Amino acid sequence: MSLKITELARANVRALTPYQSARRLGGNGDVWLNANEYPLPVPFEMSQNTLNRYPECQPKQVIERYAAYAGMTPDQVLVSRGADEGIELLIRAFCEPGQDAILFCPPTYGMYSVSAETIGVEYRTVPALDNWQLNLPAIAAALDGVKLVYMCSPNNPTGNLIDPEAIRQLLEMTRGKALVVADEAYIEFCPQATLAGWIAEYPHLVVLRTLSKAFALAGLRCGFTLANAAVIELLLKVIAPYPLSTPVADIAAQALSDDGIALMRQHVVELNANRAWLATALTRLSCVEQVFPSETNYILVRFTDSPTIFKSLWDQGIILRDQNKNPGLAGCLRISIGTRNECERLIAALQALPGTAGIVEQA
Ligand SMILES: *Cc1c(COP(=O)(O)O)cnc(C)c1O
Repeated sequence: MSLKITELARANVRALTPYQSARRLGGNGDVWLNANEYPLPVPFEMSQNTLNRYPECQPKQVIERYAAYAGMTPDQVLVSRGADEGIELLIRAFCEPGQDAILFCPPTYGMYSVSAETIGVEYRTVPALDNWQLNLPAIAAALDGVKLVYMCSPNNPTGNLIDPEAIRQLLEMTRGKALVVADEAYIEFCPQATLAGWIAEYPHLVVLRTLSKAFALAGLRCGFTLANAAVIELLLKVIAPYPLSTPVADIAAQALSDDGIALMRQHVVELNANRAWLATALTRLSCVEQVFPSETNYILVRFTDSPTIFKSLWDQGIILRDQNKNPGLAGCLRISIGTRNECERLIAALQALPGTAGIVEQA
């Protein structure tokens, strides 16, 4: 009776705050603009009936198709349960708990710290500059003991690309010491910016990808790690024996067919157009202080009174992502790009807020 079961858990797990995913945060909406998902489901059908058998660890067709799509060879590709699993596998393969560290530059994606904490690996942060670019001298000064530098480009939640010249300098200063992990979850929205082609030149560069965003398959849970074959081999040592279920591999292969890729590119054209429309409409609202440029399927916006706006939209079933607690992002909300109709509903709701359309409310 005396020992509580929770006291048996590892100290770092007891102290852990789990990732605040959009799903966990809840909400009762019909306009979901908080998880950077594609707004409409893409229909797929199972083509196999072999659920009595264990799946392949690395389904050959999925690997070959992704390699062709990304311009890599199959031995430079790992498929996993979302890019999130790739983030964690890298820490498990490269960082000694209690000894090595990872480094990243907030504001950025929340899973780097959560994965490190779960495994008991130190995470070190070097805040991004005011323009959200890398603070290279500060990174250089903090590299001691660091095995992995996570860098998200385009960055979530700010939407900007990291300057490629700065990335080159980062790769030079980490050569032989640490891996640089470029998280390219949103690269389909700006494909010319990919670093995948740099892997040949920098053996310590790793690129993370996903089917959750432009491919419209967040519910599938399928992501990819691109790296030189030696890194992929190490990750294959620590991955689960059956990381992908048969239906996941089946649908991923279809999504990566020529037709699947063409459909994804159509989504990108459409979402990029909606983003341009939404950005213009937002800049015309008096409740908007700043609309940050974006290369992705979301926009970061600074509002004059973000808590009130967030709550009011939430109550109307329009769910955005609050960024107030993220360093440097006071007053900011992140808005995923939905259908044109959803963008229009958001603007209409913002215009209807007291004071928003330039109508001065008398107290
Ligand atoms: C969405 C996202 C991921 C996670 O992708 P999954 O494949 O769904 O696990 C990784 N990194 C960033 C920056 C993301 O926004």
